[in-house]
Amino acid sequence: VWNSCLEIIKDNIPAQSFKTWFEPISALRLEGNVLTIQVPSLFFYEWLEEHYVGLLRKTVKKQLGENGRLEYNIVVEKSSKNIPYTTNMPSNGNGAEGKRQSIPVPVSLNKDIKNPFVIPGLKKLQVDPQLNQNYTFDNFIEGDCNRLARSAGYAVASKPGGTSFNPLMIYGGVGLGKTHLAQAIGNEVKRNMPDKLVIYVSCEKFCQQFVDSLKNNTINDFVNFYQAMDVIIMDDVHNFAGKDKTQDIFFHIFNHLHQSGKQIILTSDKAPKDLAGLEERLLSRFKWGLSADMQVPDLETRMAILKKKMYADGIDLPYEVVEYVANNIDNNVRELEGAMVSLLAQATLNKKEIDLNLAKSMLKNFIKNSHKEISIDYIQKLVCEYFEVPVEMVKSKTRKREIVQARQISMYLAKNHTKTSLKSIGAFFGGRDHSTVIYACQTVEDLIDTDKKFKAYVQDIQKKLKMS
Ligand code: ADP
Ligand code: MG
Repeated sequence: VWNSCLEIIKDNIPAQSFKTWFEPISALRLEGNVLTIQVPSLFFYEWLEEHYVGLLRKTVKKQLGENGRLEYNIVVEKSSKNIPYTTNMPSNGNGAEGKRQSIPVPVSLNKDIKNPFVIPGLKKLQVDPQLNQNYTFDNFIEGDCNRLARSAGYAVASKPGGTSFNPLMIYGGVGLGKTHLAQAIGNEVKRNMPDKLVIYVSCEKFCQQFVDSLKNNTINDFVNFYQAMDVIIMDDVHNFAGKDKTQDIFFHIFNHLHQSGKQIILTSDKAPKDLAGLEERLLSRFKWGLSADMQVPDLETRMAILKKKMYADGIDLPYEVVEYVANNIDNNVRELEGAMVSLLAQATLNKKEIDLNLAKSMLKNFIKNSHKEISIDYIQKLVCEYFEVPVEMVKSKTRKREIVQARQISMYLAKNHTKTSLKSIGAFFGGRDHSTVIYACQTVEDLIDTDKKFKAYVQDIQKKLKMS
């Protein structure tokens, strides 16, 4: 019966989804009109319930009649034995939050749980936390600009999962020390509690890993890995924008970790309430704990940062130079440090004393911004990455909604940010004519006016364009 069900399901969903979510399922038994299937994890169960409950119900009824029912048997990861955990498929289609009935049944099937992380008693799991050792609390200068974030971070590091700061969200502009502080928390936890499993991952890398795990059919390992952590540090969560599938997965991982009292640390370039392109339910989770902002450091703090840096590098610069640099680069710690490094390099290369005059002439170059032309190629790449669609598809004939959207936004941006003619833009996107481009731009403009989410997407991409 299950095989016939699979045939139907296969015809109704994309091949990749079928491979990911249905191939790992095995049929256990059929008793009367109740079919029991085994899924590899609780997470799998939740995912099926959330995304495929309608399809499953229809299919089972088709095969077993109106009274046909489906029960799940879930392989519980935290055990080397297969603990029976049977649930009824909620008939109200409520998804993962639907009511579950637990009917224990004896189960003996369970060959290979592909999860080295959570089988207790085998061996202690070692995970490289992917932390940069140089980012510590010790060399993080405290100022008014970061006091709240720093002390919350310190509290979290002393008691991961044990404070109300969960998640701890650190937000602020570029180069203000978010990554430094977030990693300092990880390093501090590791220093005091070496057995804790800590992982640092940028949001972008996480998204990439997710895509890879779909390709390699290792989604379960991927999820299990993150769910086994005691502390997860995810950097730059604003990069989730537009990546709905990855957000879905992270939502599940987040819930699992949070429920088990594990610590979650996030960084972002905006406050949760201002994050565009993120699903509401994920955002609401992000607001649960504490959001602490990082401001631009004041002059005193900037000078302290420079002095600390000089000290660490064993270099001494005249006070007036330090003051001059700190005075003139006043919005970004990374640039502040960068200016200092260039200054030192110049001085060494030219064997010159670093005096105020040299600092002045150097800084001129440093502050100058070069304006490069944006290419249509680049726009396309950016848009495709943003929406997780393959570049070739955008140039193809397909009318799939998400592709059309990516194509139209690309055309719109190409028209507004490059000097390319409408005709060339059309030609670039798979040999379309200029009226198609006009239509696309019109559509995008209309949507910007009427659809808030859409507008946020476009603005987000435009921001990325300008940053490059
Ligand atoms: P963000 O992640 O916010 O873009 P980073 O954490 O990468 O910024 O910081 C940029 C650079 O500035 C790093 O080298 C970091 O060590 C340094 N930095 C930022 N804030 C501080 C601070 N308060 N004390 C010492 N160094 C800092
Ligand atoms: Mg950063």
